[in-house]
Amino acid sequence: MFEQAMGRSAASAQQYLQELHDRFKGDTSGKVADYIPQLAKVPQDAFAIAACTVQGEVVAVGDADLTFTLQSASKPFTYGLALDMLGREAVRAKVGVEPTGEAFNSIVELEEGVHRPYNPMINAGAIAVCALLCESVGLDEAIARGEAMAEGYLGRPSTFDPEVLASELVTGHRNRAIAHLLRHFHIMGEDIDSALTLYYRQCSIEVTARDLASMGATLANRGVHPTTGARAIGSAYVRDILTLMFTCGLYDSAGRWAYTVGLPAKSGVSGCVVGVVPGRMGLAVYSPRLDSHGHSVRALQVFNAWSEDWNLSVFE
Ligand code: GLN
Repeated sequence: MFEQAMGRSAASAQQYLQELHDRFKGDTSGKVADYIPQLAKVPQDAFAIAACTVQGEVVAVGDADLTFTLQSASKPFTYGLALDMLGREAVRAKVGVEPTGEAFNSIVELEEGVHRPYNPMINAGAIAVCALLCESVGLDEAIARGEAMAEGYLGRPSTFDPEVLASELVTGHRNRAIAHLLRHFHIMGEDIDSALTLYYRQCSIEVTARDLASMGATLANRGVHPTTGARAIGSAYVRDILTLMFTCGLYDSAGRWAYTVGLPAKSGVSGCVVGVVPGRMGLAVYSPRLDSHGHSVRALQVFNAWSEDWNLSVFE
């Protein structure tokens, strides 16, 4: 419980989250992502903060039951699925483990010589992982496995937003260009549509801030969902996922994030950030207005304050 995880009661944790919410709710700076037309329709000033301990105790404030799509916050989980299904060697052949210092949708960044995407947290790497999954088991089975994987982390059946999926499939020319580049360098095969469909399908998985905190808590709990007790991912691969989240989860802000917040985390352009306090908790913030790097403005502020106030950095 919070007592065990953080040395404070659930009531005081709840009160602290409310203070954070009050402190930052007045900040309406930043802009909702509108390059995916469907994403521009979300309630712009929504704001939720949630935490889930590895014992399954949840505290949440604000719009914590409002549904949003995972977007890039799906990437660490899909990477884990590929590791679980195919092993490290097969996955490492297609995607590296180096931070790029580049934006999430960077096109030209591929490792010299091998032409692998640098890591699975940027679009190029995540698309390569999705291509690998489709080439291994076919699109339908890959989608089914992705769904089962999400259910493991959510502790309930998973749903996705078909309109966001369709919106990205039609307008995502930049990701299509990335896929063609990967095809050119033989990182993936011919079936670009399947790879992108799986990629967008994963991005369009629907969660609430509460859900996202429990997904983080499952990683914090070595891959076992805190309340169902079901395993969502092989424990051997949790370290891989958390390491990549730590070094690459915030793209070109990853260094500053590691320095200030000090937690493995992943952001999504829907305005969410999931953070993991290994062995203790999963944390989630949702607020759709983004900064120029594509990160939720309020989520960054909340995580900065939270980490400092509760000494959450993994190096504390
Ligand atoms: N679906 C989004 C895209 O590919 C995910 C990007 C993100 O959340 N950073 O553009």
